[in-house]
Amino acid sequence: MRLSFHGAAGVVTGSCYLLETANSRVLVDCGMFQGSKNVTRLNYEPFNFDASKIQYLLLTHAHIDHSGLIPKLVKHGFRGRIFATRPTVDLAKIMLEDSANIAVQDTEHENKRRLRAGLPPRKPLYGLPEVKAACKLFTAKEYDARFDLTNGIAVRFQDAGHILGSAIVEVWVTEAGKTNKIVFSGDLGQTNTPIVPDPTPINDADFVVVESTYGDRLHADSGIREELFAKEVNDTFKKGGKLMIPSFAIERTQELLYYLKRIERDKRLPAEKVFLDSPLAIKATEVFKKNMAYAEPELKQEFSDPFNLRQLTYLKSTQESKSLNEYKRPCIIIAGSGMCTAGRIRHHLKHNLWKPENTVLFVGYQAEGTLGRLILEGAKTVRMMGTEVAVKSRVSRMESFSSHADSRELLNWMTNFTKTPKKVFVTHGEPDAANALAAKLNALGFKTYIPALYEQTEIK
Ligand SMILES: [Zn+2]
Ligand SMILES: [Zn+2]
Repeated sequence: MRLSFHGAAGVVTGSCYLLETANSRVLVDCGMFQGSKNVTRLNYEPFNFDASKIQYLLLTHAHIDHSGLIPKLVKHGFRGRIFATRPTVDLAKIMLEDSANIAVQDTEHENKRRLRAGLPPRKPLYGLPEVKAACKLFTAKEYDARFDLTNGIAVRFQDAGHILGSAIVEVWVTEAGKTNKIVFSGDLGQTNTPIVPDPTPINDADFVVVESTYGDRLHADSGIREELFAKEVNDTFKKGGKLMIPSFAIERTQELLYYLKRIERDKRLPAEKVFLDSPLAIKATEVFKKNMAYAEPELKQEFSDPFNLRQLTYLKSTQESKSLNEYKRPCIIIAGSGMCTAGRIRHHLKHNLWKPENTVLFVGYQAEGTLGRLILEGAKTVRMMGTEVAVKSRVSRMESFSSHADSRELLNWMTNFTKTPKKVFVTHGEPDAANALAAKLNALGFKTYIPALYEQTEIK
């Protein structure tokens, strides 16, 4: 069979792998490229395969870098079936709707510039009609339940412990009487996180495709997360400032709410408002509440509603969001997007980043070329919506909040394989991270390979 890498090769984002046998073409993920212009321009390139000939899509989880080009796939003729877990199906729907709205708005904005420059207008990557069509193709599958995709290909989802509903995908391919098992790690989570269970150990595979986001790094101790977070909140409030948290709508936002709930329970949360300023995160939180059966069992024992705080205010409309500019008291603002590439956080940064009493707290991965990465790396000024803004607020980071396993956890997960796989493809990492993980795996006796974008390989 043939395996080819149409994203998350040489970069973190754009996860998309194509598995082809004599009779079948199966995609694993169809994600959007995110980050610098050099990377995001790949979203506008034609697919390197015929979308109308893809029969099945296995979606590991709802993050846009794994799901974001599904509507584009539909636009180019894909009419096959999409399989994912129940929470992923529910989350993908709201994520893709949001993504379509951003695509349409961004294109309108860009076209104003293009017209002025005498260039022809561009069409958005996709819109709501393609999202609607894509959503009709989804079928939910349970974890740990093997099903036949088609003659000769069977599939099983296992919990990847990354975000609610995230899956490791096991694929069995039988050709000429011989079966090979390929394991796609998807994005693997950290162990001991509050909302999702630990990543499932997998014992056997002939081939493995493993992510390497944090292949060269270790996270800070997760045990002190709550302590650090309480300190960030209290330090900022003492200065009378606003604590701005650029947050991913799924998982990270709910984790923040959970830790705030614990801080509140321990009477360490001052009686100031917490604004959740993200329609997407508000919807995602509702999906989490509906799918608590898939969450870590201990979570439900701890709190009946782990995402609800007394001082929490949901801001749905743009008007409500704008009213925060006039809000004078210390507060916490949780807003998207997580890497400050779009969304309401940009407005809050524009209005608040130049004030020294405020804090911007990063709680997630910041890809190269994003506004978040620029601020994190100490830019003195940043340009936002045509305005130069001085970075005078305190810039802080809590890396332990990551949804990704660090290099030690990735290695631990890999050592669950009792028989050494024939080959391990290291993907979904910037080159330093992928190289570091591959070197560590080689030292343990694995045969690794780091594929290039669009590379094809015969495996048997
Ligand atoms: Zn992810
Ligand atoms: Zn990812």
